[in-house]
Amino acid sequence: MRPIWEAGINLLFPPFCFHCHTWIDEKPAPILCHDCRSRLVAYGHADLRPEILHRDGIDRVYSGWEYGPEIQTVIHSLKYEDYAKFGFMYGQEVIRLLPDGVFSSCDQIVPVPLHPTKQRDRGYNQSDWIARGVSEATGIPVNRSLLRRTKFTRSQTTLNAAERKRNMENAFTVHGKTLPEHVLIVDDVITTGSTVSSLACVLKQNGVRSVSVLTLSHPRD
Ligand SMILES: [Zn+2]
Repeated sequence: MRPIWEAGINLLFPPFCFHCHTWIDEKPAPILCHDCRSRLVAYGHADLRPEILHRDGIDRVYSGWEYGPEIQTVIHSLKYEDYAKFGFMYGQEVIRLLPDGVFSSCDQIVPVPLHPTKQRDRGYNQSDWIARGVSEATGIPVNRSLLRRTKFTRSQTTLNAAERKRNMENAFTVHGKTLPEHVLIVDDVITTGSTVSSLACVLKQNGVRSVSVLTLSHPRD
């Protein structure tokens, strides 16, 4: 059976590399050509939690690739509706880079939610597609209703670390009567950790015991 992301994809997506613009012969053409994919630098098996500035509430952090120009192209492309579904493939791929069974104690996968207004405007959440790929590779179900983003936050890109933390305070609320014991939060990239830490703290305040985080990328300082 062909993977879900392959169906009809070449009709919609011209087969060239988004990074170096080389024509790609393989089908489907998953954002990057073979050469650009081979330049992605895998993080390996390390828990990156000590490298994250804001880590309250978070027990473990894993990322697939060091932040570089090629993965930056991938993450940027996933923010466009037509390409977000490639997050499924990269979500599956990132699991292959990590130790077997590293998330076996996780009960549910939670993609970092967008504010409802933003989700409505965009029509999709790029982290949700990554989460679907992680779910396919691990067998852990995705829970999209556990968390809601209740605060419309400004873009974090121009904020310093302290401003990022303040920006994300009280940004999420937890819903549901029965909470999982161990949650795996999935996002595209983790920088200071202010977003996932805010989310992890509210989960723990509501009784979740353990919070792991998985992102496609993390910038190595
Ligand atoms: Zn390329």
